[in-house]
This record gives sequence, C-alpha cells and structure tokens, in this order.
Amino acid sequence: MKGYVQVYTGNGKGKTTASLGLTLRALGAGLSVFIGQFLKNGDYSEIKMLEKMKSILEKDQLLEIRQYGEPRFIKQNPSPADVESALKGWKEIQSAVLSGHYNLVIAEELNVALKMKLIPLEEVLALIQAKPGDVELVLTGRYAPDSIIEAADLVSEVQEIKHYYQQGIQGRTGIEK
Ligand code: ATP
Ligand code: MG
Repeated sequence: MKGYVQVYTGNGKGKTTASLGLTLRALGAGLSVFIGQFLKNGDYSEIKMLEKMKSILEKDQLLEIRQYGEPRFIKQNPSPADVESALKGWKEIQSAVLSGHYNLVIAEELNVALKMKLIPLEEVLALIQAKPGDVELVLTGRYAPDSIIEAADLVSEVQEIKHYYQQGIQGRTGIEK
C-alpha cells in the first residue's frame, strides 16, 4: 500500500489524539507502528495502554513507543540535554522510517521541536523525500513550518474555537494525558 505524509497542526485540541486514533486503526489492520514523542517524558495514559496492547498484537506485528523529552518542561532556551534528547529521537525516527519494519511512523510534536530548533529542518525535509514508498509518516504539533506543509500530502489544521484551558482547567488524566 502506498504511504503518504500527514501533518496535524494548529492550536486546537486533537492533534495527538488524531495520531493515536490512526495508531488504533493501523494496529487493528495488523500494521506495525512506531511512535516517537518529542518533548515528552511522562506516564501518559496512551503509553500505558499501548504498552498493554503489545501483548495482543498479531504475529510479526511491531509496536514501539518512545519518548524524547527531558523530565521538565522547556520554558525558554533549550538546554544541551533537551537538544541531545531531541537529536537522539530524530535519529530513531529516521531509522524507523528507513528500516522497513514499520508501516506507520508517527513523530509526535515534531513541529514543536522544529520550532524550537532542536532538530534540523533540512533533515526532516530530506527524510520526507527519502521515505520508502510504503511507509505512512505522520508529523504532529503546533507551528508546522511552511516547508513541511508544502512537502506533506495531507495537512489538517485544528483551530481552537474554545478550550477550557482558557478557564484555567489543567490537563486531566484520561482526557489530555
Ligand atoms: P490532544 O493530545 O488532546 O489531542 P493536542 O495534541 O492537539 O491535544 P497540544 O497542542 O499538543 O494538544 O497541547 C498539549 C497540551 O497543552 C494540551 O493537552 C493542554 O493541556 C495544553 N494546552 C492546550 N491549549 C493550550 C494553550 N492555549 N496554551 C498552553 N497550553 C495549552
Ligand atoms: Mg499534542
């Protein structure tokens, strides 16, 4: 099956959950999935569930979930450790795409990592060009650069119309994390 490059960007809620919905669908079809999450380091509920789902995969079906963030949030300038984690993640994403082992590769919050200049934009564009024809590559996160939007085959922008975040509601376990 031919694979495409998808981008989920914008400031509204639904980008990460879109990629998780795709993951669920792909796994149900017996496809192998690699998810790499930039800037994240934590016990997200989706990771807990995906780890459990590994035990019920089809024979030869792969599911890998990796996080490339430091334990604290990046407030201003990224530290050398932030850069190192993101670059390590980027290498893993490149390998996952080129390995031939995965049908669906999701680079979560990659757009934000690009915005923070943690990973080189030219290399991301080069990977989009070098991608094997049967790999579906999904990039998520706010602030997708124009060149990424240009290079992608599908771009959805989630626009915030309302968000309870504006009322001071913090992320809730099971809904946002
Ligand atoms: P979901 O994971 O629910 O699909 P998303 O991936 O579209 O959401 P992100 O842009 O990755 O959302 O935002 C991550 C988290 O940042 C949100 O779950 C929320 O807790 C928080 N957040 C949402 N809106 C804002 C905002 N305007 N400013 C700062 N933080 C926000
Ligand atoms: Mg997200």
